[in-house]
Amino acid sequence: MVTKPDCLFCKIIAGEIPSAKVYEDDQCFAFNDITPQAPTHILIVPRQHIDSLDKAEGMDRDVLGSLLLAAAEIAREKGFADAGYRVVVNTNADGGQTVFHLHVHLLAGRPFVFPPG
Ligand code: 5GP
Ligand code: ZN
Repeated sequence: MVTKPDCLFCKIIAGEIPSAKVYEDDQCFAFNDITPQAPTHILIVPRQHIDSLDKAEGMDRDVLGSLLLAAAEIAREKGFADAGYRVVVNTNADGGQTVFHLHVHLLAGRPFVFPPG
């Protein structure tokens, strides 16, 4: 498993930095965002370190699929799938990415506008 020693999310996955875990499987780990932007704001990250969606490659196809399937499973488990939710992958500077370990934001509990700001 590729990890990066100085990466915040690698440290969270390893349990070196505490987090409120909501889900895990063999490829993904999910925890509550520390600065929630909605009543539910969960981050779903691959266990392996990938800097961003921009750095994902063909060999990451399976893990990319697992991230979205994990989002859908969490939404059903937590009971907000029918009401609806949003998944977001901020990528690089203009995308608003601040943590460079690929992650999917799973947001729910209020309506969202489109396009986002
Ligand atoms: P980005 O801006 O890269 O798309 O998203 C990074 C997210 O990580 C932000 O929503 C931010 O609140 C969250 N975050 C940053 N540091 C921590 C932390 O130490 N713990 C948790 N749980 N979330 C964090
Ligand atoms: Zn990492």
